[in-house]
Amino acid sequence: MENVKFSGHDTVALAKKYGTPLYVMSEDIIRDRIESVKKAFEEASCDYEINFAGKAFTNVAMCKIVASENIALDAVSVGEMLTAMAAGFPMERVCYHGNNKKSSELKFAVENGVGLIVVDSEDELKKLTQVTAELNKDVKIMFRISPGVEAHTHELIQTGIQDTKFGLPFEQAKDIVVRANQLPHISVVGIHCHIGSQIVDEVPFIAAADKMIGLYQAIRNEGVDLRAINLGGGFGIPYLQGDEYFDTLKYIPKLVQHVKTMCAEKQVPMPKLIVEPGRFLVCEAGATLYTVGTVKTIPGVRKYISVDGGMNDNPRPALYGAEYEAVICNGKATEDMEEVRVSGRACETDTLIDKAVLNHPEVGDILMVRNTGAYNYSMASRYNRFPIPAVVLLSGDCSGIMVERESYQELLSHDRVPDWLK
Ligand SMILES: *Cc1c(COP(=O)(O)O)cnc(C)c1O
Repeated sequence: MENVKFSGHDTVALAKKYGTPLYVMSEDIIRDRIESVKKAFEEASCDYEINFAGKAFTNVAMCKIVASENIALDAVSVGEMLTAMAAGFPMERVCYHGNNKKSSELKFAVENGVGLIVVDSEDELKKLTQVTAELNKDVKIMFRISPGVEAHTHELIQTGIQDTKFGLPFEQAKDIVVRANQLPHISVVGIHCHIGSQIVDEVPFIAAADKMIGLYQAIRNEGVDLRAINLGGGFGIPYLQGDEYFDTLKYIPKLVQHVKTMCAEKQVPMPKLIVEPGRFLVCEAGATLYTVGTVKTIPGVRKYISVDGGMNDNPRPALYGAEYEAVICNGKATEDMEEVRVSGRACETDTLIDKAVLNHPEVGDILMVRNTGAYNYSMASRYNRFPIPAVVLLSGDCSGIMVERESYQELLSHDRVPDWLK
């Protein structure tokens, strides 16, 4: 039996060369996903923009890939903006999000020429007005609106319902937008919503689009020259074989056609449509490699296998009950399949996969968990003082480090001893 490959690479060789736990990312798959979204919009022929939601997976090399694809980047912190800047990412193509941006952070964005700020609240608008006056600089903004739409996804990743910290309440939005547009230095170019993540049903997406088009019309009727509607991200991916499959690439032309029809009916110009996929562009491009360290059978109960990572590098099972699939990478006969629980090594229950079907896992095997490209590296923690793993980028036949494995020296580098303990 041959070793399992990922993006054309022998996973066991990668584990040997770079060590485990290890994140691997396929540049080929990332570029393919970006190109496919572009193509879906091109074929639907409309003015569009794709913003990669950097929070799903970001680092300097990733920003270089995004820049070279000529798409835009969503950033939610100074850290993410600095990452883009370190990659030479054109800042006019950066869109700054977040529900509680500080004045100092808004100032950083304006000073560094961030192209668009998505304002989340009236308090933020006040801060931004002060910042732009101080710097005597103009900014383009959109407002995040909470459209009051329920997305059928995990409640912790629903963000567009009425009872949410995000965005202007739908009913108040029109008046706030109209008033904001009269402020010096501020021009409102569009409205934004993002209803949640890992959505696998077009009904809530279309419902949100309808509400946003209604609002767009109402605001335009007040004389504000809105040009764009940003409908956010949230396109779900199949984590498990046999999972409900949401075909994002088929949904996009449908959405465009729907918006065209609605705009014709309402006699408003077709806006530029913006989407912000995060997970869709990177999730399937990533996998995590682990080494199996212990195998324990509890007679009549189950078999546990423990790997050298877990909730530190993938907190999603613990956070959302997210499910994953795994394979043993070192070539083994497939007749010997058994159901086991894959555990991480954090001092918590740390179940990575509750029921994994694997071919006779043994100590020393390399285990690959698929679809870890989104919200794994970006959510990794140092709990138990395990260092953050390396990320290796695969491109064609090449492999290279995009994030170095954290060293123990780096791990300790922020610790200080107050005088009285010395
Ligand atoms: C998280 C987020 C996204 C991306 O969501 P995905 O589910 O990864 O596509 C897009 N826009 C905003 C505002 C977000 O917060």
